[in-house]
Amino acid sequence: MPRIGVLGAGIAGLTAAYQLQESGASVQVLEATDRAGGVIQSTKSDGFLVEHGPNSLRPTQHLETLIDNLDLEDRRVWADDTASKRYVIRDERPVPLPTSLGSFISTDLFSARAKLRLLAEPFIGRRSGTNSDESLAAFTRRRLGPEVLDYAVAPFVGGVFAGDPTQLSARHAFERLVDLEEEYGSLFWGGLRANRNDPAPDDAPSSLFSFHDGLETLPAALADALGDCVVHGTPVTALHHTNDGWDVEVAASNDEPAHQSFDAVISTLPLHALQQLDFDTPIDPSPLHDVTYPPVAVVALGYDRAAVEHPLDGFGMLVPPVEDQFDILGTIFSSTLFPGRAPDGHVLLTTFVGGTRTPSLAERTPSAVRDVVERDLNRLLGVTGDPGFAQHVHWPRAIPQYTLGYGTVKETLDTLEAEHDGLYFAGNYRSGVSVGDAVASGAAAASRALDALTTRDP
Ligand SMILES: Cc1cc2nc3c(=O)[nH]c(=O)nc-3n(C[C@H](O)[C@H](O)[C@H](O)COP(=O)(O)OP(=O)(O)OC[C@H]3O[C@@H](n4cnc5c(N)ncnc54)[C@H](O)[C@@H]3O)c2cc1C
Repeated sequence: MPRIGVLGAGIAGLTAAYQLQESGASVQVLEATDRAGGVIQSTKSDGFLVEHGPNSLRPTQHLETLIDNLDLEDRRVWADDTASKRYVIRDERPVPLPTSLGSFISTDLFSARAKLRLLAEPFIGRRSGTNSDESLAAFTRRRLGPEVLDYAVAPFVGGVFAGDPTQLSARHAFERLVDLEEEYGSLFWGGLRANRNDPAPDDAPSSLFSFHDGLETLPAALADALGDCVVHGTPVTALHHTNDGWDVEVAASNDEPAHQSFDAVISTLPLHALQQLDFDTPIDPSPLHDVTYPPVAVVALGYDRAAVEHPLDGFGMLVPPVEDQFDILGTIFSSTLFPGRAPDGHVLLTTFVGGTRTPSLAERTPSAVRDVVERDLNRLLGVTGDPGFAQHVHWPRAIPQYTLGYGTVKETLDTLEAEHDGLYFAGNYRSGVSVGDAVASGAAAASRALDALTTRDP
């Protein structure tokens, strides 16, 4: 039976380990901290359920399989219908993002000129004459116009990547958009055709879900299923290729490091943690070291319902960088989105600060960050009075940025795998930053490892 080591017990590592275990391999997960789930953390206090990292998931094939296998369907909650409404700040007030032709025509979010520019999208030809990487900002300006960049795409990437569209690569951060242009010549026609060929599942009550006790339900169930295979408090410090496979060094509580041998290793460590390992390779790893993970602060505030003037009838609100009188990236109306996030008569608002836009804000003291958040919520949502509940989370390195030239990062990872037998990489730096992407990447790495081990010479 092959013995496979998985480094890191975030969702990518747990998924890889679970798939390996289900296939009969002997697996061990080495996790530096005392809990499983990585950035997926849900905590409950004073009747408020706070998500420290991700708040909601989109159904994907892999997630549905995990939920089925782990028997989590009864614990799942779907987003409230109102969550399809998303606000964007324009001229200092929340304006709903249009979701139909009628609301697009009447919306104040875009000027008449921007609407006409958007309607011209199907008639704009493909980008030609170059294969070079294009920023998401340049791509959006070229196809959809500058106002859609300012009031739709820039706030959206602030929400997904905590990132900046002038730095992100359209090809690597939003591959689907570039594919639509290449395949169909237009995002509009491509989107219509792609939806017809691949309709959303009829039986999903909403496009977003979580669990009654928060998103941590998923990694906790995976860790339960893996049992003793997950070893906590084992920070990996070195990785060496040996004649028989891999030697993994782990810092131990006494002075002597411990060593484990594996036939294959799947690293799901964030790239900044991978960089710290003692690992000899003839491949130049510097592109991996250049990937930035900006800091993000998450501030969850609970209020009496009566203290918030806004109806909170939506997923939340995003603040575009051009509305620069505000400092927050956006706020999720958590108690509207899912049930059980706040006690009766109260609301929970989860706000994000920092990212590539304003990294230094995320590094301020908890009370200074909270002041910024309260000031913006007061102005944007008509919040009065102090929150009765507050929780602050600081992610010093939150989400990897798929910036211009990210192809070199992906190539470096492919080359490392090709050059080192039995070494694989998975995680949110590989093929998308969502939880669904990290799960898919963990599952794919497990399959590659199993395929190689079952086909290699005895
Ligand atoms: C604030 C925030 C909000 C987000 N919101 C959403 C959302 O709403 N929806 C969504 O789909 N996605 C969201 N994401 C993205 C998504 O949550 C992550 O991309 C995904 O969970 C990352 O999983 P991972 O397994 O790749 O990495 P991680 O979760 O980072 O796991 C890596 C693991 O490796 C461990 N580790 C590190 N160094 C070592 C070492 N030397 N030895 C052993 N172990 C080590 C860590 O402790 C950790 O457990 C959000 C992310 C953040 C930060």
